[in-house]
Amino acid sequence: MAAPAAPARNFSFEFFPPKTPEGVERLRATRKQLAQLNPTFFSVTYGAGGTTREGTLATVLEIRGEGHHGAPHLSCVASTRASLREVIAEYKGHGIRHIVALRGDLPSGLATSGELRYASELVRLIREETGDWFRVEVACYPEYHPQARRPQQDLAAFKAKIDAGADGAITQYFYNADAYFHFVDQARGLGISVPIVPGVMPINNFSQLARFSDACGAEIPRWMRLKLEGFADDTASIKAFGLDVVTELCARLLAGGAPGLHFYTLNQAGPTSTIWHRLGL
Ligand code: FAD
Repeated sequence: MAAPAAPARNFSFEFFPPKTPEGVERLRATRKQLAQLNPTFFSVTYGAGGTTREGTLATVLEIRGEGHHGAPHLSCVASTRASLREVIAEYKGHGIRHIVALRGDLPSGLATSGELRYASELVRLIREETGDWFRVEVACYPEYHPQARRPQQDLAAFKAKIDAGADGAITQYFYNADAYFHFVDQARGLGISVPIVPGVMPINNFSQLARFSDACGAEIPRWMRLKLEGFADDTASIKAFGLDVVTELCARLLAGGAPGLHFYTLNQAGPTSTIWHRLGL
């Protein structure tokens, strides 16, 4: 049976698995609100080395129990081949048909990098184990991955994931639409034809965003950084500015042909649903 095909436009919302009973309850409320927007799917992140293995699966199963499409992430860093095979079989055993396959990042203090070095090897393992049972999405980086020595090398790494059998890609977040359009052109030039869905990070809290961005190599443009810094503790102004900037970015991306949007919700419904309504989706 072939993996499910992507619909014409793909709108998805990403969550992380909550760690506490209160977090589980809060995420249920978030999901209830976001489900009204009728996204294509909800995805749930996976901690390096399987640290969230149970929480990721439990959250995806809850999503499916509520009648929605749920896609677990799976990262291969700090994992053995055998443990990855187990997780893949577990997902398949539950009838899950969609995976977001990643390398992941080694948490500081963890010494072992695992048996698979790159996400392309994980995509290959998924295909070896389960053929075309899963629709497989991978990550890509319009502003390039921070560990890539050269942009061309990162593009080649992206192509390796597609050649290994990935069906689609979701980008790291960015605030510069031109970087996305340029990246898509470059990928198409290499013969990559899968949908490349922009990842969107709503802006809620400047210090948290600056921390994330420093770690993952996503640039906060100078004009945005200065404005956000200038608001200091004025959270209402940060949120209002963030909503304007991110809505405008999404509108530009969709008008320029982006095949959907993937929202990094951080388990909050408010910013994503406001942007969604402003876009008139
Ligand atoms: P890879 O594609 O393996 O690339 C990693 C680096 O290796 C890049 O610099 C690449 O250029 C380089 N590279 C790849 N192949 C080669 C090669 N053959 N030779 C030389 N260099 C090579 N992290 C999590 O832990 N859990 C999650 O659930 C999660 N979800 C994510 C979802 C999305 C949509 C995105 C964009 C990221 C997510 N991440 C997640 C973060 C991700 O794991 C990190 O960005 C990680 O640093 C790289 O993962 P990757 O799958 O892109 O790795």
